[in-house]
Amino acid sequence: MLQSVDALQLLEEQKEAWDLVATNYAALDKVKTKSYEIDGNCWKVQFNPARIVSSSAKVDAASIKQRKCFLCKEQLPAVQRGIPFGEKYQVLVNPFPIFPQHLTIPSVHHELQLIQAHYKDMLHLAQSLAHFTIFYNGPKCGASAPDHLHFQAGNKGFLPIEKEWKKAQLVHDGAEAKLYALTSSIRQAFVIQSSSVAAADEIFQLIYQALPQKGNEVEPMMNILTWYEDGMFVSCIFPRAEHRPSCFFATDEAKKMLISPASVDMGGVLITPLEKDFDHISASCIRQIMQEVCLSAVDMAHLVECIKQKL
Ligand SMILES: [Zn+2]
Repeated sequence: MLQSVDALQLLEEQKEAWDLVATNYAALDKVKTKSYEIDGNCWKVQFNPARIVSSSAKVDAASIKQRKCFLCKEQLPAVQRGIPFGEKYQVLVNPFPIFPQHLTIPSVHHELQLIQAHYKDMLHLAQSLAHFTIFYNGPKCGASAPDHLHFQAGNKGFLPIEKEWKKAQLVHDGAEAKLYALTSSIRQAFVIQSSSVAAADEIFQLIYQALPQKGNEVEPMMNILTWYEDGMFVSCIFPRAEHRPSCFFATDEAKKMLISPASVDMGGVLITPLEKDFDHISASCIRQIMQEVCLSAVDMAHLVECIKQKL
């Protein structure tokens, strides 16, 4: 069975063998960061120029059709090595890191980025790679390959949500799984805490079915962060209202910011690939971005009531 130590060893090997990886991980030591306290919670901002490809990625159907899939085996660089995770996935080093230890975990098949049938895989990954937090970006919520199923993983101890979730309110106290709602924050989240894959999945499926789904989307918009600690799975599900905030599309240069929130941003670390945006962003910008891309507190309260009735 794959363990964290195997993935960490892969990272060290790829730093030796692959110049891009060596350069980009070394550059992480020098990235600028700043932090804010917003409503009693910690929010960080990271200026990370290597992430420009992902933040500005065109993920509309026509653009995706025109490009070769960079997660398919045939397109991976010759120097890239992978470790199998079961028969369905392989673990790769992410050459454009946000975390000091950052993995991409694509399916070995070219299949759509969809979570409903694969949420359990995420839990198994979290248990095997317990050094890491596993994350899922929905096809319109930050995934730069919406046509190829994949997760990512970043070392624990990086995202503020790992501590902040403990402020969440208990919604349901089941024998094998608890459901919480994190509403004391500028973004809303469900948190599942469970000792069992099956029990966590059961609650996840109820949340999935209750989430709003736009007619042109293949699944409800969401980001998910999952990790394993003290014999328990902890899974934060962030329902999304929009793919990108209004500042992303602003035509006024003074207001325009290249920020495209995904799981890491939901976890409390906003990524700015442009230095001017890093300099400009403020606590009130973060608040506005989160308000625009996340479900409102009113909608969240309604969802919680719907799900409660089914538990
Ligand atoms: Zn592919």
